Amino acid sequence: MGQYKYVTNRTIPNKAGEESKGFVRARVPNDSDTAEVAYKCPECEHQESTKVPFTRPFNIRCSKCGTLMKLPKLKGKKK
Ligand SMILES: [Zn+2]
Repeated sequence: MGQYKYVTNRTIPNKAGEESKGFVRARVPNDSDTAEVAYKCPECEHQESTKVPFTRPFNIRCSKCGTLMKLPKLKGKKK
């Protein structure tokens, strides 16, 4: 349990510059290329837990309003 090759937990600013309006939490198990994601959209405040393919650049799009939440500066290397 608890073996993840990528974990992130960060706040996402909205377009008005309010830094704590949204967040994205994501983790990718070592044996998977599917990210387990929980987010709160900084624009419409929609909250959702979902699973998405783990690709780079790794961005999450709000399923309600379409806002793209960018997660730059990933750590870790591709094999
Ligand atoms: Zn939204």
